[in-house]
Amino acid sequence: MSYDLIVIGTGPGGYVCAIRAAQLGLKTAVVEKRKTHGGTCLNIGCIPSKALLHASHMFHDAQHFADMGIGVSAPTLDLKTMLAFKQEGVDGNTKGVEFLLKKNKIDAFIGTARIAAAGQVEVTAEDGSNQVLETKNIVIATGSDVTRLPGIEIDEKTVVSSTGALELESVPKRLVVIGAGVIGLELGSVWRRLGSEVTVVEYLDRILPGMDGEVAKNFQRILGKQGFQFKLGAKVTKVERTGNGATLTVEPAAGGSAETLEADVVLVAVGRVPYTQGLGLDKVGVQLDNRGRIQTDAHFSTNVTGIYAIGDVIAGPMLAHKAEDEGVAVAEILAGKAGHVNYDVIPSVVYTFPEVASVGKTEEELKAAGIAYNTGKFPFTANGRAKVNRTTDGFVKILADATTDKVLGVHIVGAEAGNLIHEAAIAMEFGASSEDMARTCHAHPTLAEAVKEAALAVEKRAIHM
Ligand code: FAD
Repeated sequence: MSYDLIVIGTGPGGYVCAIRAAQLGLKTAVVEKRKTHGGTCLNIGCIPSKALLHASHMFHDAQHFADMGIGVSAPTLDLKTMLAFKQEGVDGNTKGVEFLLKKNKIDAFIGTARIAAAGQVEVTAEDGSNQVLETKNIVIATGSDVTRLPGIEIDEKTVVSSTGALELESVPKRLVVIGAGVIGLELGSVWRRLGSEVTVVEYLDRILPGMDGEVAKNFQRILGKQGFQFKLGAKVTKVERTGNGATLTVEPAAGGSAETLEADVVLVAVGRVPYTQGLGLDKVGVQLDNRGRIQTDAHFSTNVTGIYAIGDVIAGPMLAHKAEDEGVAVAEILAGKAGHVNYDVIPSVVYTFPEVASVGKTEEELKAAGIAYNTGKFPFTANGRAKVNRTTDGFVKILADATTDKVLGVHIVGAEAGNLIHEAAIAMEFGASSEDMARTCHAHPTLAEAVKEAALAVEKRAIHM
C-alpha cells in the first residue's frame, strides 16, 4: 500500500492533520505506538487533568452549598470513583478519535514508527512484527515527554510526573510540587482541593513564567488564599526516599544555606522535552535545534524533502491547540493550499479556579520591544454577574497600541477566563482596536462585560468603576 501522507503520532497535532488531509482527498495513514489514539493530551494530559480539575472543583464547591441555602450533608471523597470518572472521560475521547479516523477512511497502524528513508516508514508492532509503508510525505507529530531532573528518579508512586499525579491512590497529606508552571499549578490545585497541603518550589522568583507579571502576582495571591505555600527563587537539589515519603533538600537559587522539606508525594513538573526517540532521524539526516526540537521552516518542512513536523516536537508553545492548528496548516500545504498559523494569537489557559488566560503580548514583552501601549483594567469585583456568583477574584487587562489602539494582548484572571479569552483572540485575529471591543454590545449580566469594561478602561471611560 502506498500513501500520500503518513502521520507519525495521533496526538492533537497528528490526528487532526490526518483528518484534514483525508478531507482534502489525500490517501492518509497514521501510526501510533500507544494502544489508544489522542496522544499525551487525551490520554495523560489535557483531558484527564481537566476531568480531575472539574471533579475536585465540584467537591470543593459542594462544601459551600449551604451559603446558597442548599442543604446537603458534608461531601465525602471516594477517590477510586473519581479516578474512574476521569478514566471514563479519557476513554470517551480516545474512542472518539478512533471513530473519526475510521469515518475519514484513514488507515491506523498501532506500532512504533521509524523513518527508514524519505518516503518509507517502518512500523514495528508490539509482537515484534514489522512492515514497511510507502508514502509521498511524512508528518512527524511525536509530541513531547516529561523533563526529568538530574539525580531525581521518577517512580510514579512517591516521586511522580504529571502522569503519576493523575493516578495517586490516596490523597497525599503533604504534596511538594517542583515547578510553578501550568501543569504544576493545575495538578497542585486538584490535590489541594482534595485535602493535601501543597508546597510549590520554583527556581524563578515568580510563578507562571512567560505569563504577564501582574497576572502571575495576582494569581499567586489567590492561590495563597487557597492554602498553597510557595518557595520561590529556590531549587531542589536532592530528593531522598524515606519510609513512606521523601525528604527534599532545597537551596536558594542564588546560593545560600539549604533547608529540608518533608513530602508524602513529590510532583516533578519542570516542563516537557520534544520526543524523537527511535524515529531514526539521525540516519535520514533530519536536523534538530539546540533544544532537541525538530527544525522546520515556515511550511513545517524539515531539511529533508517530504518530511514535515508539527506540534510539541517543534518550536513554539507546547499546547494542544497549537499542535492542532499546525496539523491543519501542514495538511493544507500538502494539498496545495495556503495553510497558515498565526503565532501572535495563540491563547493559553491555566485551568485552575479561578482560571488564568492570556493571548498576545505581555506588558514585559511590550516593554522589552519598546512598544508604547495603553492599559485598560477592570476587576471582577465590579462585575454584577461575578458578584452574585461570588467569583470576584481577578481582573481583565487589555493592552492596546498607544498610537493605533490595536489590541496587542489580553490577560484575564477570573472564573471562566478560559472561555472569555476567545473574544479577545477573535478581535486580535481581525486586527481590532480596543475601541472596537468597547463598542461591541455585550450581554448583561455576563462575566464577558468585564472584557468590554476593560476595553473602555483603555481610554479611562469604564462605566462601573
Ligand atoms: P502528543 O499529544 O504528545 O502525541 C504524540 C503521540 O505520538 C503520542 O501518542 C505518542 O505515543 C506518539 N509517538 C511518539 N513516537 C512515536 C513513534 N515513533 N511511533 C508511533 N507513535 C509515536 N495543552 C493544552 O493545550 N491544554 C491543556 O489543558 C493541557 N494540559 C496538559 C496537561 C498535562 C498533564 C500535560 C502533560 C500536557 C498538557 N497539555 C495541554 C499539553 C498537550 O498535551 C500537548 O501540547 C499536546 O498533546 C501536543 O500534541 P502533539 O500532537 O504534538 O503530541
